[in-house]
Amino acid sequence: MTKDHDSVEQARQLAHRYFEQQSLFEDEVYLPSRPKESRLHTLRGALDPLPTSLADFEKEIRDCVRCPLGETRTKFVFGDGNPKADIVFVGEAPGRDEDLQGVPFVGRAGKLLDQLLHEVGFGRKDIYICNVLKCRPPENRDPASDEIETCKPYLLTQLSIIRPRILVCVGRFAAQVLLGVKDSMKALRGRTFSWQGVQVFITYHTAYYLRNPNATDIGREDFAMLRRMYDDLKSPW
Ligand code: URA
Repeated sequence: MTKDHDSVEQARQLAHRYFEQQSLFEDEVYLPSRPKESRLHTLRGALDPLPTSLADFEKEIRDCVRCPLGETRTKFVFGDGNPKADIVFVGEAPGRDEDLQGVPFVGRAGKLLDQLLHEVGFGRKDIYICNVLKCRPPENRDPASDEIETCKPYLLTQLSIIRPRILVCVGRFAAQVLLGVKDSMKALRGRTFSWQGVQVFITYHTAYYLRNPNATDIGREDFAMLRRMYDDLKSPW
């Protein structure tokens, strides 16, 4: 293929993406206009000094009892996946299966997340995944504000060590804690925000699709969009 042909094809794809997104979001359109080197830096609220690796950090905090959830959990759920990933997914808190296994997103919602990832060519080895809270709230109740305040520096520290290029909020809770947004998920899903220099993408929690299976195609759309964001970052253009 000639260089000219490549440029025409890239322009065609960009135009296609523009019109596709414009039809979804009217005048709000994501285009690959961010500098390629854009990456999260050390976040305000992360531990100082920053631990040198995720493994060291996990050893440092895995016996945490800074809030009452430390007494009721079975296992501390630090995170899973590739510590050098360009994409990090952030969920809410471990559920029953996660609490038993010490790994995030291994229950039904996690299996659906794996399926949606797989459909766009990602596996856990390509991403990193963790939660706002590292310990399960009893009976899966909503996290309390003091638990969030206590645990949030751990998340900020993890993110600062990994320095992803795309952050994915899985559900309203993660979006609220990280970005402070209060809008409904209907308004937020599939949208990209710039936060502390990194792109943040918001999508429904996969537990939502377990409750509303007919809505799962919305998740497929979001994951396809995420894949394109990722490919844009990787493209030399
Ligand atoms: N839901 C979450 O938000 N996180 C998990 O790890 C599992 C379910």
